Amino acid sequence: MHLALLEAEAAAARGDVPVGAVLVDSEGRVLSAAGNRVQADDDPTAHAEMLVLRAGAAALGQKLLDGCDLYVTLEPCPMCAAAISLARIRRLYFGAYDPKSGGEVVGGPSPRALPALPLKSVDGRLVVAKPFTGRVGVQQI
Ligand SMILES: [Zn+2]
Repeated sequence: MHLALLEAEAAAARGDVPVGAVLVDSEGRVLSAAGNRVQADDDPTAHAEMLVLRAGAAALGQKLLDGCDLYVTLEPCPMCAAAISLARIRRLYFGAYDPKSGGEVVGGPSPRALPALPLKSVDGRLVVAKPFTGRVGVQQI
């Protein structure tokens, strides 16, 4: 998470929303790290999570990142939450909830906002349930 915070600081320094993300493999080795680059790259999809997912998939030479964990400084938005689910990330850790733009990870199931991500609360933690891959744990740290 410290590395993700450094990426968030770098994003802020270049005029982007200060969000950072780090993708690690099943052994905890860093595959990719990035901060938001929406302003820097004039790319509305250049959120930190999207950048590390793309770089991680390229590094591994595969589209699915099952077994990988993602650390993000802020609760992912709906776009990133969907991408995280599609990539089959094993666990998502985020530093702070985002009640304004969070991907409904906070509020639980929201069929209108995020139909592809069935969410439920398990022992006070929110879990993304994916029938074809088991469960992806989500917890705030
Ligand atoms: Zn996002």
